[in-house]
Amino acid sequence: CRHLVVVLGDQLDPQSSAFDGFDATRDRVWMCEAAEESTHVWSSQQRIVQFLAAMRHFAAALRERGLPIDYQTLREGGLADALGEAVARWRPQRVRLTWPGDWRVLQALRLAVGDTPLDLLEDRHFFCSTERFARHARGRRSLRLESFYREMRREHGVLMDGDGPCGGVWNLDGENRAAFGAQGPGFLPPPARFEPDALTAEVIALVRARFGDHPGQAEPFGWPVTRAQALQAMRQFIDERLAHFGHWQDAMWGGEPWLYHAQLSAALNLKLLHPRELVAAAEGAWRAGRVPLASAEGFIRQILGWREYVRGVYWLKMPAYADHNALDARRALPAWYWSGDTPMRCLSDAIGQTLRHGYAHHIQRLMVTGLFALLYGVEPKQVHAWYLSVYVDAVEWVELPNTLGMSQYADGGLLASKPYIATGRYIERMSDHCRGCRFDPGQRTGERACPFTTLYWDFLVRHAARFAAHPRLAPQLRHLDRIGPEERAAIAARAAWVRAGGLG
Ligand code: FAD
Ligand code: SF4
Repeated sequence: CRHLVVVLGDQLDPQSSAFDGFDATRDRVWMCEAAEESTHVWSSQQRIVQFLAAMRHFAAALRERGLPIDYQTLREGGLADALGEAVARWRPQRVRLTWPGDWRVLQALRLAVGDTPLDLLEDRHFFCSTERFARHARGRRSLRLESFYREMRREHGVLMDGDGPCGGVWNLDGENRAAFGAQGPGFLPPPARFEPDALTAEVIALVRARFGDHPGQAEPFGWPVTRAQALQAMRQFIDERLAHFGHWQDAMWGGEPWLYHAQLSAALNLKLLHPRELVAAAEGAWRAGRVPLASAEGFIRQILGWREYVRGVYWLKMPAYADHNALDARRALPAWYWSGDTPMRCLSDAIGQTLRHGYAHHIQRLMVTGLFALLYGVEPKQVHAWYLSVYVDAVEWVELPNTLGMSQYADGGLLASKPYIATGRYIERMSDHCRGCRFDPGQRTGERACPFTTLYWDFLVRHAARFAAHPRLAPQLRHLDRIGPEERAAIAARAAWVRAGGLG
């Protein structure tokens, strides 16, 4: 054939650059379900179903439109071997590929095509190209979200009023981030969930048979797997949840996995949904007076800001980025991360819903599972492997900087200005978890001491020298001066107990 157009599992957009100039009489699409993509990390069953079901639906839609497609259903081995065989089979003049979402895959596919020319094409899904981000980063000693986000707002005319931001301020976080309080969240609009059709049911059966020993569960499965479903989920979010998104963005509540979040990250990352349409819909809802500015701005900041920013950092810094371990953390990830079987209520809730649905919202990822791993001292690579395995939205370009940089501070402050650390009091304030927990977030030593609180003080003691001159951590460190040697020894002993598996 003339062109072999490679479509990966997170490139399910018929408008993507690889399809430019596609000629159905001479070109062919190639897609492959390579088992290694689900085994190179111990991918959860929910995540595998998400990817394979969306891929099969996308292929079916292409076939319906008459595009010739070589689709390889689940085969053992890696993508590269499969692509090598496809190139030998079709002898294309050129292989076309939109820039992938994973450095490892890019290297493997580059090699796999051998002497056949490979057209690596810009991923137009994003607001900011990798080249544009490199320009932003050039000459800066440190990277910060805020300056990048303002540049993006200006450049793309998002929430702008002439030259200035709508509402007169760039950041409305002060109005956001409340806790539910003792009453709890009350009525919550039900999330958009989609009953599996025959194609998805087939994938669920396949995943149970081939990957039944992988973490989590394949069912119930309700994620969008087609563009039409993704659009429906987007509309439902804008109409029913966005108005309250900002206010409750950081709140948690036991047994309530969805709250006012969008649950659109997987649809976005698989490219079923375009960030431009989502940002335009959120801004439009505000301009129509249907949602407060603080919610629209808080939401747009996540997409136009954080999502683009972490992608920029990923491609700017890979492959070295994955090896960072600035805090020299070396411990193994506790085994209960794969089961949720721990007496710490906040963690069992966050991990439980993660394994059930492949989903946890940002604060659960950052300030519960991520915070615990950071304070415990888990080796960043193991934390990274866990996050890449368990979430339906996990693709390395977005997962790695969030995990290694934002949550574990393993990049030494490149992505986030300070480590996100807190005692159990933070979780107590933002949720109802501590009420039913056998630990007490106010205690750092003794039998009822909350492990977060103990490990927080232990973290400060262990890293006091490193952060002594850090402008944002110095106030936290000053509290250490008031802790005498006896109390320090008690904290160290309790921390050692936690790390020795005292939690069961
Ligand atoms: P909402 O809270 O409703 O936010 C709206 C959208 O904003 C999301 O759909 C997402 O596309 C985007 N967004 C929000 N925060 C971020 C962020 N920090 N970085 C990038 N995009 C963001 N997100 C992923 O898409 N894939 C991952 O693998 C992933 N791993 C993470 C690992 C850790 C340790 C942390 C702390 C965060 C991670 N995130 C990841 C970011 C964020 O937690 C998820 O995007 C979000 O929870 C998805 O749920 P939602 O769609 O309901 O998001
Ligand atoms: Fe989590 Fe500590 Fe609260 Fe228990 S007491 S729920 S471990 S923060």
